[in-house]
Amino acid sequence: MSFLSATLSRVKPSPTVAVTTLANELKAKGRDVIGLGAGEPDFDTPAHIREAGKRAIDEGKTRYTAPDGIAELKEAICAKFKRDNGLDYSPEQVSVGTGGKQILYNALMATLNPGDEVIIPAPYWVSYPDMTLLAGGEPVFVEATLENAFKITPDQLEAAITDRTKWFIFNSPSNPTGAGYTRDELKGLTDVLKRHPHVWIMTDDMYEHLAYDGFEFCTPAQVEPALYDRTLTCNGVSKAYCMTGWRIGYAAGDAKLIAAMRKIQSQSTSNPCTISQWAALEALNGPHDFIAEHNAVFKRRRDLVVEAMNAIDGITCPTPDGAFYVYPSIAGLIGKTSAGGTTIDSDEAFATALLEEKGVAVVFGAAFGLSPCFRISYATSDDALKEACGRIRDFCNSLS
Ligand code: PLP
Repeated sequence: MSFLSATLSRVKPSPTVAVTTLANELKAKGRDVIGLGAGEPDFDTPAHIREAGKRAIDEGKTRYTAPDGIAELKEAICAKFKRDNGLDYSPEQVSVGTGGKQILYNALMATLNPGDEVIIPAPYWVSYPDMTLLAGGEPVFVEATLENAFKITPDQLEAAITDRTKWFIFNSPSNPTGAGYTRDELKGLTDVLKRHPHVWIMTDDMYEHLAYDGFEFCTPAQVEPALYDRTLTCNGVSKAYCMTGWRIGYAAGDAKLIAAMRKIQSQSTSNPCTISQWAALEALNGPHDFIAEHNAVFKRRRDLVVEAMNAIDGITCPTPDGAFYVYPSIAGLIGKTSAGGTTIDSDEAFATALLEEKGVAVVFGAAFGLSPCFRISYATSDDALKEACGRIRDFCNSLS
């Protein structure tokens, strides 16, 4: 009998690890590698938020708190949902965890029984399927298409729902594509969900504030108030506030679900870092003008990368609405051979050869459940992006 749990055997190692490991090995050997894999802003946490963290330490706010967050932060989260999304939540409907990741994991752990299905649009953020499997559920994928700008349709959602469906996970703007659903597109999905009262909605709004060209962010419970009771609205400070390392995420929803999530957290990690909670309070309540400044930079970089990708023969790259990723298709390059002798028979082969031959690290599409594509994170300097795009162009042009 294996020492390791049967549950663990349901989960695959992160497919992104292979590329990251190879990138690190090459760097260690002194190779000049440009990393476009990171899922985090390259900006520092704004000064006023850092100060709030330092103040918390100096004021002795360094002890345990309530397992799912201090009252002040829960109040600020309620105010944020009202201000940004027009949603009314009370503090007992709010949970604060160690990053958005723990919030999503708690919710799945608190609700899934063996055989329960979780509908996940593909391409997806890499953790949704494996968290579902760890919690004993079954991921059900609905594949978006490039033609539909990487968004699923109401008919596709309808066809995926069964008696066993417990959750529909929704993420807009999306990691890895940056695709954002307009209000009408989301309404199409919520109309379907309205007809299936046993399906709950887990919306991951992590990239809410990272949207460009006037894209209007909206979230399911806002678009369809009839779904409010069975929607868990998840968000966090990691991305928009440049606080990935502080590890604060939060959610609001049904008070009984929130209590169940609290129970799991109280028996596992307990409260998220106290100092980070006080810093997150400042993030939500303090000035937000830096977000627009950062977005102007992100938009410029997005346009730079999209233009460079579309100028390459064999690559098609839609313009995303938000986040800091683009997801070009390499359908036009499959079957070719690289100068180094690699047959490009998959996006994984493409990403590996690109890294080995040109020193550019991207994440291949299979990791996100939709091939043949790759993900570029443009949360890095314009110079690095220009250099990387030039290398990708040279690599693609050298394929025969
Ligand atoms: N959801 C999405 C879509 C993400 O891209 C990420 C981070 O990459 C998370 C959740 C997790 O965020 P956190 O760092 O707050 O755990």
